[in-house]
Amino acid sequence: MKTLFQKILDREIPTKLAHEDELCIAIHDINPQAPVHVLVIPKKPIVRVAEATAADQALLGHLLLTAAALAKKLGVAESGYRIVINNGRDGGETVPHLHVHLLGQRPLGWPPG
Ligand code: 5GP
Repeated sequence: MKTLFQKILDREIPTKLAHEDELCIAIHDINPQAPVHVLVIPKKPIVRVAEATAADQALLGHLLLTAAALAKKLGVAESGYRIVINNGRDGGETVPHLHVHLLGQRPLGWPPG
């Protein structure tokens, strides 16, 4: 069974693309929790950060640098933003394909709910 993000990567489900390169895509979240809410998704189907290995080190770095570049592109680099990776049930993970949330353009509360 393909995950939702694999279907998006395979262009089986339409989405609003914010970025694509050889290693990842970034899409606008369908249910945004902030005015800027983008998901950076590796093309490699790593299930969650807990399943990543040392072989994924450069890819994980690429996802963070891509999120930071998108923050700049989307105009939230100055005001600030949050990068989130939900891992497992208590972490709030709902799609078992690793993704990095980029949230911004509003003050974000701490601690998270
Ligand atoms: P998670 O809860 O696994 O960390 O994040 C999954 C995210 O995917 C949620 O923020 C949810 O709103 C988003 N999402 C779920 N279905 C779709 C969809 O069909 N398209 C897009 N663009 N985002 C989705």
